[in-house]
This record gives sequence, C-alpha cells and structure tokens, in this order.
Amino acid sequence: MAHKHQSTDTDYYQILGISSGASTAELKKAYRQQALKYHPDRNPGNKEAEENFKSAAEAYEILSDREKRKIYDRYGMAGLRESGYRGPGNYEDIFGSFSDIFGDIFGFGGRQAKNRKPEPTPGNNLRYDLNISFVEAVRGVEKEVEISKGETCWTCEGTGLRPGHQPESCQGCNGLGQVLQVQGPFRVQITCPHCHGQGRVITEPCNDCQGRGLVSRSKKVNIKIPAGVDSGSRMRLRGEGEGGRRGGPSGDLYVIILVEPHNFFHREGAEIFCTVPISFTQAALGCTLEVPTIYGKEKLTIPPGTQPEQQFILKKQGVTRLQNGSRGDMTCEIRVVVPSKLTNRQWELLRKFAASEEGNEESDRKGEGFLKKFFHL
Ligand SMILES: [Zn+2]
Ligand SMILES: [Zn+2]
Repeated sequence: MAHKHQSTDTDYYQILGISSGASTAELKKAYRQQALKYHPDRNPGNKEAEENFKSAAEAYEILSDREKRKIYDRYGMAGLRESGYRGPGNYEDIFGSFSDIFGDIFGFGGRQAKNRKPEPTPGNNLRYDLNISFVEAVRGVEKEVEISKGETCWTCEGTGLRPGHQPESCQGCNGLGQVLQVQGPFRVQITCPHCHGQGRVITEPCNDCQGRGLVSRSKKVNIKIPAGVDSGSRMRLRGEGEGGRRGGPSGDLYVIILVEPHNFFHREGAEIFCTVPISFTQAALGCTLEVPTIYGKEKLTIPPGTQPEQQFILKKQGVTRLQNGSRGDMTCEIRVVVPSKLTNRQWELLRKFAASEEGNEESDRKGEGFLKKFFHL
C-alpha cells in the first residue's frame, strides 16, 4: 500500500513551491524561477541564497527524474537512500541540469557547441559626419564622400582562412566555445577568450586579410541629400557599412548631417528668418527693396511709417518640408539704422525737420515732450 513520506523529510515540493501533482512543465517553471532568483551571479556573497539555490537544484534533480520522484513520493528520503541516492550531486551536476532547461540564458549552451560551424557575422555599421552649408541643406545637394572601411575579403570570402585550409578546434575550450571559470564555490561558464566563443581557431590565415576576413579599402559613396534636411538629420545607407564575415551581410552607413550656420539667414523648422537693415528715412518714407532669399532674390515693399522690428513675410521662400514637400515662409525683420555721422547739410535738414515736428523743439529734444505725454496718459 502506498503511503506518504514522513513530514520530517525535506519537502522538495515545498522548496519549489509546487503541489505534489505538478506536471513536468510546472516543475521546470518553478525551478527556473527559484534558480534565477538565487543564482550566485545575482547574489554574490549571499550564503542564504547559495543554500536556497542548492536546495532548489536538489529538489529539481529528484523531481525531474521519474524513477526518483516515484520513490520519493512513496517512501520519502529513506526510500531514496535505500535506492542508492547519495544526496545532491556536485556543482557540475547542478549546472548540468541547469543548462538543460536554461539553454543560453546564462551562456550555458556550451555543451551543444561541439563541432558547430562558425556563425556568419554581419558587418559593423559605420558613421560618417557630413558638413554641408545652410543653402545646400535648404536646396538639397548631392555629395560624393570617400569612406575607408573594412570590406569582405574575396580571397577567403570573409572566413579569414587560407583557401584550402580548415579551421582547427580551439585548444582552450576543446571546441566548445566556452570554458568553466571558478567563482567561489561555483563554476560558471564563460565565453572562451581564446576563440571568442567560435570553438575554432584559424592556424592558416588568409594572406590577403591576415585572417581578419576583411580588407581595408576606401570607397566613394554618393549621398543624395534631400532639400530640407536639418542639422542632426541621420541618413541610413543600407549595405554601405563594413563587410560581413563568413557570409554575413554588410553593415549600414549612417550619415549624420551637420549644417553650418549662415550669417544672414537662420532657420526654425521650415521657416527662415532674416534681418533687413533700412535707413530711418526709408522706414519713414517707405521704399521697395530687393531681398536675397535662398532661391534668389525677391522684391519687398516697405510701406511709409514702418517701425523697427516690424516683420514682413515672403510667402514660400522658406524650407521644403521633408514630410509633404510643402514650403515654409521667410520672415524679414526690419532693423532701422540711425546714421552715426551726419554731414553739415544733413544736420541742417534734420534740425529743420525736428523744428517742424509738433511741440517745442528744445523740450522734445530733451525728451520732455515724451515725459509730458507719459504723465498725462
Ligand atoms: Zn582573406
Ligand atoms: Zn576556445
């Protein structure tokens, strides 16, 4: 007759926090949670976590084994001992069961690495900073740049091997790609530093690339910059980065656009701003000017009585919007220039002009007219 094990026994189900009827999937899931929680890598120097980690591993070792679980369920620890079970295995066993269900989470996949083929490696992405002028950015421009980069070596097709030779199994890791490293009581698998996890090393390197799989070349690349780009815009040129190795695809080239400032125009999004200096007589009497724009020049009519900082808008003389191709406007802000030197004749005329203005000439000149107005408002 079947009977439950004694309650004084270690309760493996309780350790993993599962019921005695738990399925294999539930068991694995529970163990995974416990092991991740108490793994020494996450709890360095924590003795309690270490004990919990070992208990969970022991519980999993028993319960994941059909025979052992059956004996444990019926006869408890005593039954297991009778059947020849000598307690939890050594640490390597713990990691053995660990790798079975965790695979590569902690890089424990090494056991399956034997004889695996070196993997294709995609080429690195490259970055190129391209300076263009303000006008080029607004109008769009085509630029040819020369980029020196590693391209796939055609002699060895990016394998780094001298043609006709094979890579040899790495001595450092016996071809596993990973080695065990002792960390306190634990042994942790790390990527083999000798072969960088490839499991193989090249003893007969390709002459053309010295085993790198890449050769340095400079290549001219044509970059079409659309009208309207702004400083900091990033363009991606697919496949123009470094070459791949062992059949991997080439990386991409990222072109970062840096726009030099202009000393007449400045820009905010699709709007262009500029300051137009006019004399005080032009402001007072009005005039027609020719204003430079990004695209040429435009006539700007200044009406009589124009004030400093007054703004005039030239429609569609701004920047093309990349999203929809529509164009922003250009805002011209008026700056009234007061002459710093006058000829005798100008001085005379201006005195007459001042005298013709309302109010007392002397008091206005001293600002008293303004004071009077200010206090009577
Ligand atoms: Zn080569
Ligand atoms: Zn190795």
